[in-house]
Amino acid sequence: MAVPKHRRPKFRQRNTRMHIYIKAGSTRACGKCGKPVLSHTICQNCGTYRGKEMINVLARLSKRDQKTKEKELKNQEVSLEQK
Ligand SMILES: [Zn+2]
Repeated sequence: MAVPKHRRPKFRQRNTRMHIYIKAGSTRACGKCGKPVLSHTICQNCGTYRGKEMINVLARLSKRDQKTKEKELKNQEVSLEQK
């Protein structure tokens, strides 16, 4: 097995990892709720991807939380339609 010959200093390690991060420009606004979403991923807020519902966001919530989330989503849709 290959073993590193020298210890890698922290600054060198961090310098390499400087380029491994998500840039701010890679997000887009969700078509349904308008929240910023990473491109090519499902919106975690409303569970839609390209206009279709992929995951049921309400399923894992309690009944009380479901009602508040439903209201929240409706308000977001209404505010988007007005724009
Ligand atoms: Zn959304």
